[in-house]
Amino acid sequence: MAEAGKKRPRPVPVPTSITRPFWDAAKQGKLVLQHCRRCGTWQYWPRPVCIRCISRDLEWREAAGRGVVYSFTVTRLPAEGFEGHEPYVLVSVDLPEGTRMMAHLVNCPIERVRIGMPVRVVWEKLTEEITLPQFEPAA
Ligand code: ZN
Repeated sequence: MAEAGKKRPRPVPVPTSITRPFWDAAKQGKLVLQHCRRCGTWQYWPRPVCIRCISRDLEWREAAGRGVVYSFTVTRLPAEGFEGHEPYVLVSVDLPEGTRMMAHLVNCPIERVRIGMPVRVVWEKLTEEITLPQFEPAA
């Protein structure tokens, strides 16, 4: 348990063979999603097969990097691994590609978060290997 009020480094994702292309693109500030060559479905998070037709014929395509808040939650109590970061906002974002992505919302006062709010992706470099996508209000 972290000292009360002390901000500790947040957990760092560990790439796998399936998620490696996502993290490699993120390092370059590009949001990529899996796209099924067989049925055209986009999906997030990365998986070995298409969630619609179970095809393994998936490719990575760059996404627009914007979306609209579908839902959100404000975390005010310390959660394991995020002690000292509260309060923070997690958003579920509808992407124009047709899938949904969950991430932190940054650069936005909590009282201004709204369902339907346009957002765009921003990047936070956590380590040399991991750059994390987050969202902020679109201008
Ligand atoms: Zn498919």
